[in-house]
Amino acid sequence: MSDAKKTLPRVEFPPGTRLDTLAVREGLPRSPWGENAEALFLTSSFVQPDAASAAARFANEEEAFVYSRFTNPTVMMFERRLAALEGAEACIAAASGMGAILLLGMALLKAGDHVICSRSVFGSTIMLFGREFAKFGVETSFVSQTDLGEWRAALRPNTRLLFAESPTNPLTEVCDIRALADLAHGAGALLAVDNCFCSPALQQPIALGADLVVHSGTKYLDGQGRVIAGAVCGSEALINEKFVPVMRSAGISLSPFNAWVVLKGLETLSIRMAAQGERARALAHWLEQQAMVERVYYPGLPSHPQHALAMAQQSGNGGAVVSFVVRGEAEGGPEQARRHAFHVIDSTRILSITANLGDTKTTITHPASTSHGRLTEPQRQAAGITQGLIRVAVGLDDLHDLQADLARGLDTLSR
Ligand SMILES: *Cc1c(COP(=O)(O)O)cnc(C)c1O
Repeated sequence: MSDAKKTLPRVEFPPGTRLDTLAVREGLPRSPWGENAEALFLTSSFVQPDAASAAARFANEEEAFVYSRFTNPTVMMFERRLAALEGAEACIAAASGMGAILLLGMALLKAGDHVICSRSVFGSTIMLFGREFAKFGVETSFVSQTDLGEWRAALRPNTRLLFAESPTNPLTEVCDIRALADLAHGAGALLAVDNCFCSPALQQPIALGADLVVHSGTKYLDGQGRVIAGAVCGSEALINEKFVPVMRSAGISLSPFNAWVVLKGLETLSIRMAAQGERARALAHWLEQQAMVERVYYPGLPSHPQHALAMAQQSGNGGAVVSFVVRGEAEGGPEQARRHAFHVIDSTRILSITANLGDTKTTITHPASTSHGRLTEPQRQAAGITQGLIRVAVGLDDLHDLQADLARGLDTLSR
């Protein structure tokens, strides 16, 4: 695949065109019809001009659209636009965020390889590395999100990949991406970062030294809770030589329709992240002042343990996910804490009770009984997911309505 000539035309921009412009215009040149909005190419295959061209294109000697499992114009527009925003040379779209991480593993790892992964990454990511890849002889060590010494101590001669996510869900722990990149490169390994929570509008892991960026497009990239999508960004050499051949054989492909939805979502990404981050910061401050709130987790608060690192790494924006613990455990144990958390959640009338995040509609969830419900109580305690913990993924709802919705439950709890 690596000898493919990159000949498909590009949109031409004046030198120095900035990210906000690329977010609404990077993609492919317009078709002969001159459409201003990007076209949705719902077609499984592409007609070839003659047999010889078809042969050259199937042999990958000539770049062209062939079959939508691995080449589609709408999907390519999404890939080019996301690559531009991440400051990456290339991008490959996948059917979902988990599909992107599966693709990452299949592209980079083989039996006998070792991976180091933060213990606090997305739950399905832990299952994929810890259980599914283990079946194929890839071993993963899980380490602390924030203790660099644990990452260093876990390095082995066969370590190929370090995998991190920052901030994490739901406790918003922040890792030092540049330090992890240096550690990986010193050991001859690659660093991949799941940039779901910040998106490239706030954090560009490649500029901080990461080799690969993984996305769940389902979250902020779409931003409106409509489709499942994923992507991996990285160097042209890695994407073309390691990832494209796996996609062609394995077919974890993003549908053109979903690509089109996320492509349009990218146009408003930076203004959404700014507005949602601003609401989240204000809500986090307000929560810290509520009598029945024991603790608030939000990187934009000075009380957050990695506040300074987060502000430096995330463009001064803490992101839009706020978690907090309601009082109750100290007085009545985990059962009381859980009753209190459920009372706060069930007293809302506006917030959506759902485990998704990254939507313009603010969502609320109880991690201990949903996303982390399959863990045992001791595992949950070790992970810091207590029964009083509530996660709010702040959308574009009015701040005062969000406060009133949460106050309704918080103000009617009895100690
Ligand atoms: C949701 C999520 C994923 C998985 O993405 P899907 O699109 O649901 O497959 C991966 N990482 C993080 C951080 C997520 O929040």
